[in-house]
Amino acid sequence: MTSSLRRPLLAGNWKMNLTLSQSVDLARTVAEAAGSASGEVALCVPFTAIAAVGAALKGSSVRLGAQDLYWEASGAYTGEVSAPMLVDAGCAMVVVGHSERRKLFGEGDEWVNKKTAAALKAGLTPIVCIGETLDERESQKTWRVLETQIAGGLKGFAPADLSRAVIAYEPVWAIGTGKTASPAQAQEAHLFVRGQLKKLYGEGLAQGMRILYGGSVTADNADSLMAQPDVDGALVGGASLKAESFLRIMRFQRA
Ligand code: PEP
Repeated sequence: MTSSLRRPLLAGNWKMNLTLSQSVDLARTVAEAAGSASGEVALCVPFTAIAAVGAALKGSSVRLGAQDLYWEASGAYTGEVSAPMLVDAGCAMVVVGHSERRKLFGEGDEWVNKKTAAALKAGLTPIVCIGETLDERESQKTWRVLETQIAGGLKGFAPADLSRAVIAYEPVWAIGTGKTASPAQAQEAHLFVRGQLKKLYGEGLAQGMRILYGGSVTADNADSLMAQPDVDGALVGGASLKAESFLRIMRFQRA
């Protein structure tokens, strides 16, 4: 069984989708269902939807999140949004280093590290994404890639500060492709990630930190993924855009 230290987290990543009215409708439906969820629920929404979704979630336990941030607090950084601005807008969480940002916008571990530091300093929970590409998996580089991303992205924190962070293991080959890691592949990777956390920050932090799986999680595979002892939740893209599938994922049952 997953450690009782770690409350499952089901986080939707809406990416660059939904109109404001669709966002509000979906957020209301999620908020109404939050009482029957099998863990904590969060919605990571586009910047433009933060205010409206925040209002729709008011009074519910669903946590509001963003999908990116910039590490400076304020200043001449046209187009960027800072951690204090996200807190001011009602966010509790923020996705950092998503593979789409790494691939399409050239983000590397150094940026992930700065963004994670800024999020933690502002009191946000960063959901730090790591994961290997198909090429890297096929050429037996998965463990080296994960080790490098963890060492670089999570460098230099006090364990007490980092304990609020969440890791999302998202094999790039499984994101938006309909190809999910098998429960055994996910468990193997999560166990490896926890081992790296232990090496860097000690057993206490490693046992307490939530490691989410992301990559084509659906209503049909959520139960078997969540049954793995080191899978502490899910970061859900496509299936979080439809109430029916996301609510079923929120109500996962460990097989
Ligand atoms: C994601 O956006 O982090 C993700 C895992 O997407 P999907 O569930 O669509 O694969």
